[in-house]
Amino acid sequence: MRKVQAPVESLTAAAYVIPTDGPESDGTLAWDRTAMIVVTARAEGETGTGWSYGSPTAGCIVRDPLAHVVVGRSAMDASGANEAMSRAVRNIGREGVASMAISAVDIALWDLKARLLGVPLAALLGQVRADVPVYGSGGFISYDEEQTTEQLTGWVARDQIPRVKIKIGEAWGGNERRDRVRVALARKVIGPGPELYVDANGGYGTGQAVRVGEWLTDYDVSWFEEPVSSQDPAGLACVRRQVRPDVTAGEYSWTLADSARLLDAGAVDCLQLDVTRCGGITGFMAGAALAAARSVPVSAHCAPNAHAHVAAAVPNLRHIEYFHDHQRIERMAFDGALDPSGGVLTPDPGRAGLGLEFRSADAEKYHQD
Ligand SMILES: [Mg+2]
Repeated sequence: MRKVQAPVESLTAAAYVIPTDGPESDGTLAWDRTAMIVVTARAEGETGTGWSYGSPTAGCIVRDPLAHVVVGRSAMDASGANEAMSRAVRNIGREGVASMAISAVDIALWDLKARLLGVPLAALLGQVRADVPVYGSGGFISYDEEQTTEQLTGWVARDQIPRVKIKIGEAWGGNERRDRVRVALARKVIGPGPELYVDANGGYGTGQAVRVGEWLTDYDVSWFEEPVSSQDPAGLACVRRQVRPDVTAGEYSWTLADSARLLDAGAVDCLQLDVTRCGGITGFMAGAALAAARSVPVSAHCAPNAHAHVAAAVPNLRHIEYFHDHQRIERMAFDGALDPSGGVLTPDPGRAGLGLEFRSADAEKYHQD
């Protein structure tokens, strides 16, 4: 039997702040840059890479306290490291930025473990599908008609992705008239075949969300994400009982308990999980199992290249969000970033780990600390 010792020798973090390719906004937030925190774990000459999007301060948490409980531990023990990290952040709060830091480290450790064993991460986790479906995601409220048309046409006609999502809920639900115009435009641009999804980012009130849900059916919208805040599982459940599109949420599930709250409330038809927020590969697998027990499918939120392998290993996986901003960053930052042509991401069976190599020289100009 092969014996692998491989103590983790170092764990480092670097933050990169990357401007968007134009102003971006949804119903409840506007932004012009995205921070990416990249974690590197080393053992026995191999390097594992993980990342999260959010705040550069996640890098501080990686350095202290997370590195203190990870360095020296066997690189084979990614799940044990995850538990140790969760315990180490007790007094600073397990959710939010700490959870982004834990997630980035966990992804790096799983990547490292798979590389030490010389197998793709999907194979290490137990692969259940070769290809993972994606949906094109963007459709920002800040886009004009021409930009929206160009983006949607690119996904549906050029990339042959049969499902797309746009943002609605403009101005916290204060411009429902334009929401409707933009949904109508999206359906006109993509034609009757492809699935059309919308994301309100929690911008509506409960009653308004139910009314919006009624007119969404006029455009055959089949996915209504965060019609109200995901901090209100009862409100989501109330909307869900009264509208036809699937109601979805979960991108702020930092812990298994957060996912349990959404599931217990009957709040979602599909649980969204973000591997860069929910505790990494370890947290994603656990959250997906929890959803499976309730017969609820899972969709991967953003960071498409961080999700491809774990998504291929989850039986109740519906699809990965191919988010405009993150796919752009990942194509710039990684050799081996996956192509969504045909509407799927296909983890490369010939590359170990996540199958990616971080291009630190290309990212250097965005380096902050
Ligand atoms: Mg969302």
